[in-house]
Amino acid sequence: MIYEKRIPLLRDHHTHPSLYASLSTSLDLRTVRDKGRALALIQAQEDPVVVVFGWNNSLYTFTEEELERLKPVLICNVSLHSFLMNAPAKARFAGAYPEIVAHIEDPDWVEKNLPEIFKFIVNIQPGSAARVTAFNAYLNRQGIWYAEEMLLPNAATIEYHYQLGHLDRTRFWADLKLYQALDAGTQKQVFGIKLFTDGALGPRTAAVQVPYPEGGQGILIYTLAELSAHIATVTNLGKPVAIHAIGDAAADQVVTALENVQRSEGALPPLVRMEHCQFISAATARKARSLGVVLSMQPNFNYDSVQYRDRLSPAYCARNNPFRILIDEVGFVPGKDLIFGSDGMPHGIKYALEMSLFPPEPNQKLSLDEFVAGYCVETLENGFIDIQIDETKRMVLSRVVLT
Ligand SMILES: [Zn+2]
Repeated sequence: MIYEKRIPLLRDHHTHPSLYASLSTSLDLRTVRDKGRALALIQAQEDPVVVVFGWNNSLYTFTEEELERLKPVLICNVSLHSFLMNAPAKARFAGAYPEIVAHIEDPDWVEKNLPEIFKFIVNIQPGSAARVTAFNAYLNRQGIWYAEEMLLPNAATIEYHYQLGHLDRTRFWADLKLYQALDAGTQKQVFGIKLFTDGALGPRTAAVQVPYPEGGQGILIYTLAELSAHIATVTNLGKPVAIHAIGDAAADQVVTALENVQRSEGALPPLVRMEHCQFISAATARKARSLGVVLSMQPNFNYDSVQYRDRLSPAYCARNNPFRILIDEVGFVPGKDLIFGSDGMPHGIKYALEMSLFPPEPNQKLSLDEFVAGYCVETLENGFIDIQIDETKRMVLSRVVLT
């Protein structure tokens, strides 16, 4: 059966517009499934330092010899949590970024310093008001009206949005280090603080309770005491907090830390969001809900249950993004305390809606109403998306109209 519906434009609660705008002129390997072709494409680039993104290490890896034969190159894994930099690129950045050059291949260091790496990448191809305009136009074509910046790279980014009159179409989240370096006026423009508590599935650094089939339990960035102290700091700043936690062990740690802060400070930040929480258990989700936590999740990552079968056990594949459990059993309500975004993987309506309506795992399914409640702006005043849902082909066609 095919049916049609008009829905509002998207409110993408979690993405990285500055980073993606910076990468938008870079070589994208997401659709390049053959290593020989990837190497040829890199070699054909003309930038003094080639920045490549979208490399999927479940398809191929690069040998040191292959990398050293290339021009200066920084290769970003599709997860944006692991990176390769060849010797010519290291030589170029050793003076200005000695720490990053020394540790870029160390997964532990990378996870603990991800904000620094994102800011480094943005600064290789820095932003401008023109770049923001072009990128926002791209987001609009994907049906996105509003996009939250989950990792502010610098104060200039706020200035560009201000100049363009776009401050009401985003929210800026900054890591504590950047936030504390901003002047008081700029700090007011920052909506909240972003904390990371674990890594990602791509590099097997998401912190899990049951070890990965190949061994290891990922990386917890902080001890419980450290995380509790950071949340207490944000509580005292009076700012909202958004806490990245992909693995179940990370989600457990976040909720325990929140309980600690609630006890020690008598309060929590005015808004607490958990980002991703792909493997949160029902028990931890119940505690999170009773603490008033908002879960910020990405239907796009339903496909991790297929794409990462090589590194996740069947049990973890089945547990990924358990929306039905969170909504039906734990009581989260889309649009209220369960909100959706893309993380830019990819941006836009088509893939997100296909993954929601026709997911790989039954517990991942969302109804169209739930999708709209958690993922769309409230009105049609700036435009709409006409969608056509083909249940037989499990496909969505869409037409974005801006008014
Ligand atoms: Zn993100």
